[in-house]
Amino acid sequence: MSKIAILGAAESGVGAAVLAQKKGYDVFVSDMGLIKQHYKDVLDQYGIEWEEGRHTSEKILDSEEIIKSPGIPDNAPIVATATEMGIHIINELEFAARYTNAKMICITGSNGKTTTTSLVYHILKNANYNVGLAGNIGRSLALQIAEGADYEYYVIELSSFQLDNMYDFHANIAVLLNITPDHLDRYENDMQKYTDSKMRILRNQDANDAFIYWADDPIIKTELHKYGIKAQQCPFSIVSKNGMIGYIENGTYTLETPMPFNMEQESLALSGKHNMYNSLAAGIATRLAGVSNEKLRESLASFEGVEHRLEKVATVGGVQYINDSKATNVDACWYALESMTTPTILIIGGKDKGNDYEAIRELVQKKCVALVFLGADNTKLKDFFGPMNIRTFDTHSMKECIEACTSVAQPGDTVLLSPCCASFDLFKNMEDRGEQFKELVRKL
Ligand code: ADP
Repeated sequence: MSKIAILGAAESGVGAAVLAQKKGYDVFVSDMGLIKQHYKDVLDQYGIEWEEGRHTSEKILDSEEIIKSPGIPDNAPIVATATEMGIHIINELEFAARYTNAKMICITGSNGKTTTTSLVYHILKNANYNVGLAGNIGRSLALQIAEGADYEYYVIELSSFQLDNMYDFHANIAVLLNITPDHLDRYENDMQKYTDSKMRILRNQDANDAFIYWADDPIIKTELHKYGIKAQQCPFSIVSKNGMIGYIENGTYTLETPMPFNMEQESLALSGKHNMYNSLAAGIATRLAGVSNEKLRESLASFEGVEHRLEKVATVGGVQYINDSKATNVDACWYALESMTTPTILIIGGKDKGNDYEAIRELVQKKCVALVFLGADNTKLKDFFGPMNIRTFDTHSMKECIEACTSVAQPGDTVLLSPCCASFDLFKNMEDRGEQFKELVRKL
């Protein structure tokens, strides 16, 4: 029996383990950390051998293939040894895709993946397609397939870490939203390596496939010619309509092919410049999948957005509160600020991933009436924004932060949580940060 080892026992690893076992492999699951009880129960239910708190190399390194969680870096000792030994290391999606003929609509980019993936899914569901959702979002593809899901389409959110361990995977429709610096620590601080990783979404695409991308992105624009694209190219833009499949001009959202489509930009459910890109990408992808104009129009107008992404929480005493806790890099915050139409109190801070705040200096100057720093250590923020002649507050918990916001906010202002940083210094994760924000706002 072929042996397969699985590193990391969370959603993707456990899904892969169940599928591999169903397909007749001898499966061993290993996690350096502690495995959540729920996942242990699933592994036990299927009689799959597992370990936690260690990686037993003898058991892992005699496998033909290793399925690695995207969270484990290539320089983790067990991965480095396996690579040296020539063991094929893949990820759960690569493995799961071997067992389905569903058409894959795959979405990657530095920002906007979850929003666009959810929007594409919403449109296809609304048009009564037989469609599943997987990747960095929801339930693992492997578990869905193991449990007998029989979808015609999957909408898959792909991170660069996932793309790194994909080789034969084939995206029938690929979407590349943007490429801005993120996670560079995993790419030896080399932007080219990160870009190459994102471009892996093009692998195995042929003339029957489509590649949808943001044509105004400075990196995509200059890099594209390097990758020998065979798929039908479907660029979108909001600054030019020349050669574009999708664009926005004079307030009209337009798609050129496969059938002309337009609607008023004002009727799009998602607001903000970044969401125009997301709505264009999703519109092109779903039109290519055959969604009718009527269903597309209806779905672009009815999408409710995704939690923690420019999520309107409440208006209290004339002050609007917006939760954009998912803005864990400077670019995401830039788009949030850009979409603000009233004086803004920006909550910023957390675990800084080597941010350069220069990119938001101008918008902060233009839109913000106060900055509330929220982090274990706000020194870098104080040094950068301190000299800008904007009121600032130094806070270290969500409670303190909300108190600072309410002390300064005037009717007509917006309080925007869009922190530019990861959340792990004060919160469990970005969801926890967003939840705490919402809970305290609702109590005001
Ligand atoms: P991802 O899954 O790629 O992290 P999300 O849809 O979760 O993307 O959004 C992450 C953050 O980026 C949010 O703060 C959101 O407002 C912002 N954002 C969403 N779409 C875009 C885009 N196309 N360009 C830049 N920022 C975006």
